[in-house]
Amino acid sequence: MENSMKNDEILTLTIRFEDEDGVRVIHPAIIKDERETVLVDCGYPGFLPLLERAALSRSIPFGEITSIVVTHHDYDHYGALHEIREKYPKIRVMASELDAPHIDGRKKSLRLRQADEMRDSIPESDRARAMDFERALEAVKPAAIDDTLRDGDVLPWCGGTEIIATPGHMPGHISLYVRRLKTLITGDAFVVARGRLRMANPNYAMDIDEAKASIKKLARYDIGTFVCYHGGLVKTSLTNRENRRLLM
Ligand SMILES: [Zn+2]
Repeated sequence: MENSMKNDEILTLTIRFEDEDGVRVIHPAIIKDERETVLVDCGYPGFLPLLERAALSRSIPFGEITSIVVTHHDYDHYGALHEIREKYPKIRVMASELDAPHIDGRKKSLRLRQADEMRDSIPESDRARAMDFERALEAVKPAAIDDTLRDGDVLPWCGGTEIIATPGHMPGHISLYVRRLKTLITGDAFVVARGRLRMANPNYAMDIDEAKASIKKLARYDIGTFVCYHGGLVKTSLTNRENRRLLM
């Protein structure tokens, strides 16, 4: 028991890439113990080679990954899932029960629905960009989900990893709390900007009140480290003075 605890760790991957907005970075996370190597979120379509390289730079051949958890169905978080499933069919893929039908193609992407609703209100100058975004979303290939997750589920990883429903950014959004390491893998419930924890861009929140309620819910957990997909790792606590404004 003691030995396996010593090997428990969370690795923050760093994937740097360039698009029309310039150089950008995303941070998929890996939860690793003696038995399992779990990747949380997996990047845009076409990102498998970047993922393989990033994992290898942390001494993890991609073939060692046993499971993938998708925090929500935005294409920067699950876009590469289809190609991963093709090359690594043994990896078990998990997502919340609300998100699974949007990932496996049974239901339309909520981002595309949002784009449909907003189309008429987009100023002319932003139209071309909005169309590009829609086309990119439509091009994401669906991928099957093996297991669906619910709020309060506890996976055995690192002695107990809790699934916390954190709706707001998307209704089916989940975060992962690795109890023994007091670490929260946030998905897009939080971001890190200039070394500080912040709420993700409210423009992309499907329900801002729900997003705020999710943050209040997370304040009940004893968290010392946040691993954010956008911004990376920050050691802080929601009870710190600097974070109080997040709870308002
Ligand atoms: Zn995101």
